[in-house]
Amino acid sequence: MSQRTETRVRIRPDIAAMEAYSPTASLEVFAQRLGLAAETLVKLDANENPYGPSPRALEALAQLSTAHIYPDPEARHLREKLSAYLGVDAAHILVGAGADDLIMLLLQLFIAPDDVVVNCPPTFSMYAFDAPIAHGRAVNVPRRADFSLDVDGIERAVRAHNAKLLFLCSPNNPDGSLIPPETVERLLALPTVVVLDEAYQEFSEAPSWAARVPQAPNLVVLRTFSKFAGLAGLRVGYGVLPQEIIGHLWKIKQPYNLNVAADVAARASLDDLPRLQANVRRIIAERKRLAEALAAFPFLHPYPSRANFVLCRVEGRSARALHAALARRGVLVRYFDKPGLRDHIRISAGTPAQTEALLAALHEIAEEETP
Ligand SMILES: *Cc1c(COP(=O)(O)O)cnc(C)c1O
Repeated sequence: MSQRTETRVRIRPDIAAMEAYSPTASLEVFAQRLGLAAETLVKLDANENPYGPSPRALEALAQLSTAHIYPDPEARHLREKLSAYLGVDAAHILVGAGADDLIMLLLQLFIAPDDVVVNCPPTFSMYAFDAPIAHGRAVNVPRRADFSLDVDGIERAVRAHNAKLLFLCSPNNPDGSLIPPETVERLLALPTVVVLDEAYQEFSEAPSWAARVPQAPNLVVLRTFSKFAGLAGLRVGYGVLPQEIIGHLWKIKQPYNLNVAADVAARASLDDLPRLQANVRRIIAERKRLAEALAAFPFLHPYPSRANFVLCRVEGRSARALHAALARRGVLVRYFDKPGLRDHIRISAGTPAQTEALLAALHEIAEEETP
């Protein structure tokens, strides 16, 4: 006797009601549509590192002989190297499959059904995306027009909702602004855990907050190898956490959340820091050149950025159409169909050749297309 499907397959109602995820086309599919080779696309839409991984990381991957063995659940070797890199005891460090893994773990650790996390959009989308999956509720305290934080609003929201977590991103994705140190200090006085996402710290030329964690019982710092070390495809990130928090995270994390390939590549990257830091300096220089070149277009208004991307307000023409016109020319930038960002595009700092291709496409669009 067959039961009715709905009594056997009972999807969580809130997830069943969610709209289907519409993934962006893969680079290959996209290139095929345009009739271009994937290698010729100028990919400036995801803040990836145009110089790729350290050659030492690639060598370590080529030599990998332990793919048939489960990884060390404690990732001791990598955490020791991270400890030296950050100047923080390894006991404060937890690694994972990207900073994204740590975001979800923190939500799982802190959020009971209907608990609140405070989110400050426009910002990285995963905080608000993951919160309801973890049964939490994101309360938004929007940033001001210049992307600075509404600190009074955050304080009110944290207290009013008894928020368990406050997500901050510095430099902020998508505009690249740093949160002033005195603002972080002020927010650390709140009765909540402050999760400070420093995915772009290496590009910021500002000190990390990681070293403060051992003296700040409610500060969590998130970092990643995706951007500065060019390992986005391998998924390796980490959190720097107070003792009282990390002990509980160890209990709930998947034992093998960092795979052996990501582990050896991350370690080799930390053994090759001067080279990676030279690439970071090239990207910073290119970001500055990119921002200046973009400012010369009357319809683009770049924001000052301390990361590896530049956000531009688009004036007098549609940002969405500009994004599409660039894509038709094989130049991929990021358009966000979201409040506060619909008249903006975000462009990653790439190689000088990629900047030239972008600028050539922009000149063509400026000349050929009426807004
Ligand atoms: C890219 C990005 C991440 C994701 O990092 P992964 O380590 O690749 O998961 C996290 N936070 C911000 C702000 C990012 O831009």
